[in-house]
Amino acid sequence: MEKNNYRPQKSPGGSISGKSGRTEEKSMAAKNIDWANLGFGYMKTDYRYVSNYKNGSWDQGALTTDDQILLNECACVFQYAQTCFEGLKAYTTEDGHIVTFRPDLNGERMENSAKRLEMPVFPKERFVEAVTKVVEANADYVPPFGSGATLYIRPYMFGSDPVIGVKPASEYQFRTFCTPVGPYFKGGAKPITIRVCDFDRAAPHGTGHVKAGLNYAMSLHAIVDAHQQGYDENMYLDAATRTNVEETGGANFIFVTKDNTVVTPKSDSILPSITRRSILYVAEHYLGLKAEEREVPFEEVKEFAEAGLCGTAAVISPIGKIVDHGNEICLPSGMEKMGPVTQKLYDTLTGIQMGRIEAPQGWIHVIR
Ligand SMILES: *Cc1c(COP(=O)(O)O)cnc(C)c1O
Repeated sequence: MEKNNYRPQKSPGGSISGKSGRTEEKSMAAKNIDWANLGFGYMKTDYRYVSNYKNGSWDQGALTTDDQILLNECACVFQYAQTCFEGLKAYTTEDGHIVTFRPDLNGERMENSAKRLEMPVFPKERFVEAVTKVVEANADYVPPFGSGATLYIRPYMFGSDPVIGVKPASEYQFRTFCTPVGPYFKGGAKPITIRVCDFDRAAPHGTGHVKAGLNYAMSLHAIVDAHQQGYDENMYLDAATRTNVEETGGANFIFVTKDNTVVTPKSDSILPSITRRSILYVAEHYLGLKAEEREVPFEEVKEFAEAGLCGTAAVISPIGKIVDHGNEICLPSGMEKMGPVTQKLYDTLTGIQMGRIEAPQGWIHVIR
């Protein structure tokens, strides 16, 4: 059992994780898992998928029960952090299917991450196949419908051969494992308090738009500091001018104007969240709202009616208060519950995910 040594754990793709932040490491029979009380932590499951890249090509890949990786001490990932990852969920729908949500977009995003980090592309079709195989093989760990828990899937890849001069590795491993995680919100989604951060997350023309481990390494100090100061999350501004809103360490922003337009910041250094892209589509095509992706000056934030963070883990996490060096912006939606538009977006998107509402073509990938 690992101890959680500071406040809620971060979960890429969802701002903060379950507020009880429990971490479990023991393996147990699927039927004995207490779904409702799982935190956001690692639990070993039965199978993971591994494919290795060597001499210019990927091998055919296979499932394995071995959860350990043995690497040379000089592996590129250890020296120069050549690694990227993805995060998505499998869950049980109302009618009993096991599905994932838009995994092709995760596969596509990982292709882009790999290119930016001079890693060989693991083709998105193979990515979806790997995810499918891992979920099928660990089907006993997919939480039942209604539990609120999900099976979190973590595909990733890294440079695996020894590199001491600064250059890309020539051998790589792609791996996908999964772990059951508990309901994101226990007892309702309480709005969080965030602060405007003095550290920057991503530089213009840098790596903010790809899901690279390095973006998280450099955000750890900022989030630990934010938690110590009593904030749930950091709001990062654009590094060049520090006037426009970008995102948090692991989730994109959505705002709602007083006339019900859904607004999300546009910038080349923001990670293209699949949840955020889906929310904009839902706003326009399901709810008939105006949706805009554009620069959002921080100055404008005090005019908004609602705000939230979006990512795979929480879908949407409502924001109640934003603190900028002592100046508090209290969103009119308050500290008790989600704002009405945020709630509609949340209900519609989770309805689509759970099969209660008809999904756009290709959004739901049925595994079985
Ligand atoms: C993963 C991630 C998100 C959320 O993306 P989803 O595809 O919605 O899970 C947002 N911001 C950052 C920095 C991320 O790494």
